[in-house]
This record gives sequence, C-alpha cells and structure tokens, in this order.
Amino acid sequence: MFRRAWYLYLEDGGFLSILEYVTLKFLIEQLALTQANSLNFIMVLYRFSYADALLSWFDDNARNLPWREKIGEKADPYRVWVSEIMLQQTTVAAVIPYFNSFMARWPSVHELSRAPLDEILHAWQGLGYYSRARNLHQCAKYICEHLKGIFPSHEETLCKLPGIGPYTAAAIVAIAYGQKATPIDTNVERVVTRIHALKTPLPKAKREIKALAKMMTPDRRPGDYAQAIMDLGAGVCRPRAPNCGFCPLKDNCLAFKSGEPTLLPHRLPKNARLTRHGTVFWTARKDAAVLVRRRAERGLLGGMMEFPSTPWVVSPVPEIRKHEPFPGDWQPLPGEVAHIFSHFRLVLRVVSAVVEQDNCDNGQWCMPDDFGKLALPTVMKKVALHVSKVAAVFPRSDTLLSVERN
Ligand code: SF4
Repeated sequence: MFRRAWYLYLEDGGFLSILEYVTLKFLIEQLALTQANSLNFIMVLYRFSYADALLSWFDDNARNLPWREKIGEKADPYRVWVSEIMLQQTTVAAVIPYFNSFMARWPSVHELSRAPLDEILHAWQGLGYYSRARNLHQCAKYICEHLKGIFPSHEETLCKLPGIGPYTAAAIVAIAYGQKATPIDTNVERVVTRIHALKTPLPKAKREIKALAKMMTPDRRPGDYAQAIMDLGAGVCRPRAPNCGFCPLKDNCLAFKSGEPTLLPHRLPKNARLTRHGTVFWTARKDAAVLVRRRAERGLLGGMMEFPSTPWVVSPVPEIRKHEPFPGDWQPLPGEVAHIFSHFRLVLRVVSAVVEQDNCDNGQWCMPDDFGKLALPTVMKKVALHVSKVAAVFPRSDTLLSVERN
C-alpha cells in the first residue's frame, strides 16, 4: 500500500504537487526520519488530504436521516444496527418508513427481543430477504439474554452475532462507538475504486479496495467519515452520473482526471440467472378459505407463510402428485407467475381444487381478506393476485391490490 502511495505521486501527480513533494522531502530530511517513519509520515498526510476535504464537505452536506444523530452527537447502536440491516440490498428512500415504524413499535433492543417473530416478519414485508428479519430477532434476543442489552463495541465480537457481518460490525463500531473502523459497502467501493483508478474488476478487487479504504480512514471522527464517504457514494459519486464538479475529492481523483469516471469500477461478467420451476396448490374450501403453511425456518424465505407447492427446481418440472396437500381434482389455471430472486428466476404454475377435507397437520386455513395479516412474501402475494385474476375465486383484497401497484 505504501508503494501505491508513491505510485500515485510518481505516475499520476496524484495528491502531492511538486512543491508539496519538495517541502515534504525537506521536512523528512530535517526531522531525520527513518525510512519506515518517513512512510508513516506520508501516510498521515495522505489520509489527511482525503479525510479533511471529505469531513468538511460532510459538515455542510450530510443527509438528514431518521437513524442519524446530529453531527457530534452520540449515536444509538440499536438504531445504527437496525438501519444498517435494513439498508442491505435496499434504498434509503425505501427503508425510511420501515425504520420509523420499527422504532415506533420497538424503540429498544429489549422490546424487539420480546416481539413475536411473526410480527417482525409481518412488519418486514416488502423489504425482502427475510432472513435478515429472522436474524434481527435472534440477535436482539441474544443481546438481551447474554449481554444485558448492550451491543459489543468490538468488530470481532459483533461479527459472531446472528446476521452481523463485517460491514455492519464496522458501521456500528465507527458510527455508534466512534472507533476507527472502515465499513465498505458498494458506494464506498465505487468511490475508492474511482479515486485510485483501480483496474482490477470486482469482485476480485475487494481486497485491494479494503486495504485502500482502510488507509484512507482517519483517526479523528471515524464515524462521521464513514457516513461521509457513504453519502458521497450515494449522492455525488453515483454509478452512471457522478457529479464530479461538486465532489470534494476531485483534486485527488484519478478517475476524474482520466475524464471517464463512469468506466469504473470494472466488473466480471455475471453468470446468467438460472430459472427454477414449481407448481403451487391453490387449495380452497367451500367457504373460500385457502390453505397456507409455514416454510422451514432455515433457507429461502425461511419462516414465512406460503401456499403449498412442489419444490422449486431447475429441471425437470417436478412430479406434482406426491406433493399434493390433499387428494383432489387439481385443475391447472391459465398463465404463470414469475418472480426474480437475487440468484435465480422462479416460474410457478398454479393448480387449484376445492377440497372437502378440513383438518390438516401442516398448515392453516385463511380467508383471502385476512391474507394481509400473514407474513406472505411477495412471490406468494403474486400467486394470490394471479389466482384472483384468472379464477375469480375470491374478492381482491387490499393486500393483493398493493402487490399489483408494486
Ligand atoms: S471526482 Fe467524480 S469520480 Fe472522483 S470520487 Fe468524486 S464524484 Fe467520484
């Protein structure tokens, strides 16, 4: 990384002008620093040049977000934690109403730990990636039962808790505890890649980015710095249209100097998304109640409710007979339901039957108007909406109309 600093100077005229270089050389000689100390000295200046510009910019341009304290005030680790978990894979605008409603309902980790999982999953509906909600609940319980409700202040300890990875741990430690740590999300990755004009494609470049991002993190105000670089990536160094003219780092940015910042970061081509197939059993009683069941706790959509279905597999289309919840005259409904998960595309066919049996070990009956009370993931709401359109088996409730709007 030291070599990189020299490289920036020598090859690109990066962050030190000739005058600064001569001054620096003079100071090093006057101070009779050893080679190692000289490099440390350069690194201090290097950090200062980025951090100072960024922090000044942040003081004037910080986003006003509900989980953020005013500059200089101490943040609450609980609020930082919930917001960072919600923000994974989701935009700030989408998260704000969820965060506000979570805080109104569960203002501390103690209240969250006592909440039934179903209520949390229900409140999470629409944010996706439901394993995050389950982990949130488990983590709250662990913190209350074993840590007296206090969040650890060390990254390594935080990383051992359910659902907390290196990014969230670093964010909590930096923002809530004011300790030096470097949370790296996609925004930070983009800013660092562009400043240093890294040519290595993502995700291969992650180690290099981490080393450079750490090197740029200052000793003072590390929490504000972490939020400043996130804000810069989100609002200024945008993926397609960076606003370099407004950027406090443009004088030190190699991508800006190249004139083509949007070419970075490079990415390895993604593998084509697989398509999986399955068949859903729309199992209705004569009174229009529909059979729903809970998915296994672990795995995709774990703990959520669903209409019974075959396994979702790549090929061949599964034999539906052995997965029927009840024997019946199963009729295929026209059309299909498609849904995109992060790593595969799902295509579902739907078969329906009106059954006589009432008792089931592995599920419950629910009237369509009560679907809104269930923790139904979006893909299952799409199934219900599809059935309501093609089979007209029940009136379209608000829950279904909200899916249609989305
Ligand atoms: S100068 Fe432009 S490309 Fe460089 S960090 Fe700022 S916004 Fe991004």
